[in-house]
Amino acid sequence: MKKECIDIGANLTSPSFHEDLEEVIDRAVINGIKTMIITGTSIRASHEALELAKKKPGILYCTAGVHPHDARHCNDRTLESLKCLSENKEVVALGECGLDYNRNFSPPDVQDYWFEAQIELACHLKKPLFLHERDAHNSFLSILKKHREKLPQTVVHCFTGNEQELKAYISQNFYIGITGWICDERRGVHLRNILKYIPLDRLMIETDAPYLLPRTMPRRPASGRNEPAFLLYTLKMVASCLKKSEEEIASITTENAKKFFEIP
Ligand SMILES: [Zn+2]
Repeated sequence: MKKECIDIGANLTSPSFHEDLEEVIDRAVINGIKTMIITGTSIRASHEALELAKKKPGILYCTAGVHPHDARHCNDRTLESLKCLSENKEVVALGECGLDYNRNFSPPDVQDYWFEAQIELACHLKKPLFLHERDAHNSFLSILKKHREKLPQTVVHCFTGNEQELKAYISQNFYIGITGWICDERRGVHLRNILKYIPLDRLMIETDAPYLLPRTMPRRPASGRNEPAFLLYTLKMVASCLKKSEEEIASITTENAKKFFEIP
């Protein structure tokens, strides 16, 4: 059986891909990463993501949203822009939005406000939610719970938290995105032990490229840049933790992603 994967989170609008994006995408496809979902992190980046996705139909899709770091740049046109973006068939989720109290590039109250506004929009549009949470578990969950009744399908991308946080998300029926963080022997080892608590029908994998280069790569590129082709290292780690074959995990996570984002 051949491995085919979907990278549910790749920041392909990052300047680090400007020089060689075509090659990056080709390398991904050759390695079985047949579909990539470009993360939209601001209105501008979401427009760029959509432009890219339109150029590679069936291979690239994107999300539209404002990352908590960028929440302070939101204004009274933000939600209308997201709504317009989401009308394009390439836009398969709202996000990346959420809370990041780790770096607080935007003040927490501003993050909270724009997170909730994007949740409400997703509920209204019935679009899946692609979420980011770092060091903000309690606020994040309590804001989401307020909208439990109408909440669309939700994925907590790049999960890096502990067992109790993971179980809280799973009890809300959220999907969980696992990145190369799990390959990091300095800070990701705890994930290897709690992975088993994720129901297989809630598991998805992603690179978060150009960030989080898997540290299990035998020869890491000098640039330190991650790219979708390297999703295979996360796949390998996840499969070994769950004592399943890579083919099996590839097929399960691909099916989950297709269902979640409604892609053919
Ligand atoms: Zn993120």
